[in-house]
Amino acid sequence: MNQGLLDELASTVGWQRLLVDPDRLIAYGYDATMGYRGDPRAVLFAETEAHVVAAVQVAAAFGAPCIARGGATSLAASAVPPSGSLVIDTNRMRKIRSFEVDRRTAWVDPGVVTATFRSYAARHGLLYAPDPSSEAAATIGGNVATNAGGPLGFKYGVTRDAVIGLRVVTPQHGAVVLERGRDDIAIDLLIGSEGTLGIVTGVRLQLRPLPLSRAVRAAAFSDGPSALNAVVKIIEEGINPAKLEFLDDVTIESLERSRAWGFPREAGGLLLAELDGEESEVRASARHLDAVLRSDGAGLEGVDAARAERWWDARRGITASLAQIRPAKIGEDICVPRGQLASTFAEIKRLALEAEVIVAIFGHAADGTLHPNLLYDPGNPAEQARAISLLSAVADAGLRAGGVLSGEHGLGRVKRPFVGRSYDAATLAAMRRIKDAFDPAGVLNPGSMWPD
Ligand SMILES: Cc1cc2nc3c(=O)[nH]c(=O)nc-3n(C[C@H](O)[C@H](O)[C@H](O)COP(=O)(O)OP(=O)(O)OC[C@H]3O[C@@H](n4cnc5c(N)ncnc54)[C@H](O)[C@@H]3O)c2cc1C
Repeated sequence: MNQGLLDELASTVGWQRLLVDPDRLIAYGYDATMGYRGDPRAVLFAETEAHVVAAVQVAAAFGAPCIARGGATSLAASAVPPSGSLVIDTNRMRKIRSFEVDRRTAWVDPGVVTATFRSYAARHGLLYAPDPSSEAAATIGGNVATNAGGPLGFKYGVTRDAVIGLRVVTPQHGAVVLERGRDDIAIDLLIGSEGTLGIVTGVRLQLRPLPLSRAVRAAAFSDGPSALNAVVKIIEEGINPAKLEFLDDVTIESLERSRAWGFPREAGGLLLAELDGEESEVRASARHLDAVLRSDGAGLEGVDAARAERWWDARRGITASLAQIRPAKIGEDICVPRGQLASTFAEIKRLALEAEVIVAIFGHAADGTLHPNLLYDPGNPAEQARAISLLSAVADAGLRAGGVLSGEHGLGRVKRPFVGRSYDAATLAAMRRIKDAFDPAGVLNPGSMWPD
């Protein structure tokens, strides 16, 4: 990116909204993915859609790379800026523009923090369902760009299922407003496109009534596959849990080392389940769930409300707690058919043993998502190299099981090298034509997601 671009952009947005100091830019070279660093040329702190339009237009005119940035919680390195790029930071666009309790809808800016919006909705008796564990820092714009999910995804859907309208800026079309029912294809292409097709400047969301009642269960199993087989059975039995999370022994150990949460350290696998709905419905489902878990040999505990909150807090903190085992990690998030969860888990643990890498596996098991985290010490280059090569084998294990490369974190720079293994040449060519239709000069987040 050259000085001419910056001068032109500054003439519209003002220098006070641009950061060009190389020392301060270092902080914008990272997202939450370990082992990836970018080297941006400038950051624009966008406050309005017009600022985003100006930035995208100038970047396209100069053929310079640009990248949207929300909470920078990506675990796929999708928010790591390309070298010399313009970062379009949307965190100052954080207004809830409208909130209609009667219609259960809202229009929000892209920089609204997910947890802030979920709490706001709850105070009005409504549920905004997408609940990524990063909700305290992630933004609604970033959630749309990655189609974020969370523990509630199995019952209530992921971000895609909550979006009923978008405002978006693309190099080809400028600012456009899209509505469900009229522009479904464009909306569905943009959701999950990791900022490579357009920059989200507004999101219209569908909310639901808050469930009236809930119950939490924790079930400890002797090993991971037994816990994952129980997940299949629970769903086959017709139980519809709001949350059904799996934690393996390494994950439990890392959590307990970080704080005495009270998880059963001797368990090989743990299921945390939450049921919600009308009180009588929850009571009946809890009885049914207890029976299924007992018949599967689980050590079972009902969890009172206070302990449940602590454990969901612990669940949200797993990523940080893994540092108790090794200082660094590579996070995978394959998603496989539920029936393949147990065998895929066993296969990954076998590969890890062979590679001499410790792998912690947890995930929103009901929807087939597993997060194998490959742990390593950056001070031990041989171990780091083994973890990096194991990443590829884990991706293949997921694909062999009939799954996909990403259940929720997206492809980004981490899984881009494997995209060619998922799609045939004709599909990739069709996808490339879609990218060209939105961003013919290829300025939006190059080097992420799309293979060459
Ligand atoms: C501890 C932890 C737990 C996590 N748990 C979950 C989980 O449960 N479920 C889940 O799905 N993910 C999870 N993630 C991953 C991450 O939080 C999600 O991908 C989240 O949606 C990213 O939002 P963000 O605002 O941080 O986006 P960023 O990290 O800033 O950006 C992510 C991508 O979105 C693009 N982007 C950002 N804003 C915009 C915009 N306005 N318009 C267009 N593109 C944009 C960026 O260019 C980038 O490609 C977790 C991450 C961490 C660190």
